Amino acid sequence: MPARFRFRSLACCADRRGMLGASLALGAAVVAGAAAFSSSTVYAAAMTKAQRDKLSPDDVLAMMKKGNKRFVAGQRADHNFLAQQRASAAGQYPVAVLLSCIDSRAPAETIMDLAIGDVFNSRVAGNIENADILGSMEFACKVAGAKVVLVMGHTACGAIKGAIDGAELGNLTGLLAKIKPAVEATVYTGDRSSKNYAFVDAVARKNVELTKASIRKNSPVLAEMESSGAIKIAGAMYNLQTGLIDFFSA
Ligand SMILES: [Zn+2]
Repeated sequence: MPARFRFRSLACCADRRGMLGASLALGAAVVAGAAAFSSSTVYAAAMTKAQRDKLSPDDVLAMMKKGNKRFVAGQRADHNFLAQQRASAAGQYPVAVLLSCIDSRAPAETIMDLAIGDVFNSRVAGNIENADILGSMEFACKVAGAKVVLVMGHTACGAIKGAIDGAELGNLTGLLAKIKPAVEATVYTGDRSSKNYAFVDAVARKNVELTKASIRKNSPVLAEMESSGAIKIAGAMYNLQTGLIDFFSA
């Protein structure tokens, strides 16, 4: 049997949400059924529609938290990206849409140990929203069935520092202006400069909260979906130093 068909059948059978346990079972099945696979294979399959649809928004958040724990522990699944690419080519069933910073050190799929096809990913410096991003999120949730909107900031964010400093450069000036309300709204009694990382991170956290509020205010589509329980709009901060993602409790 060609390898790609074995991969497809595995993708169909894997209960990806119990990935660690399922991975062990899959590893055993693979060894028993196909000598071509090594016993160390830990397979993370692409999401199927049935698997995605049965998840609640809280299930999705739990899945992302567990993935980050695996990442931090150095226990990431052995992703076969080619298999995931092939299994997801005919359709995508992402669980969430993310809004995070362009920072090269905060790749969402990697730090949450996610597979190809698991999440929509919007990235813009300082993770601010605009009409185009809201349109993308509305597509992701209302049309494509995603269950969570996650706004994720990160520590030591250059865009936040730029907003604090009032940096000006071409189109960046207008982008940073959208972060400035977070600078002003951050309650902090110490050094309010970009050299103070505690202040920078406090502003980044406030910026996530304000972006969440803006999403609710400017997208009646998403606000209604959240009110009805179809989705959750959540916030988080990624720590560049520890690799941990702090998911906000509300
Ligand atoms: Zn950043």
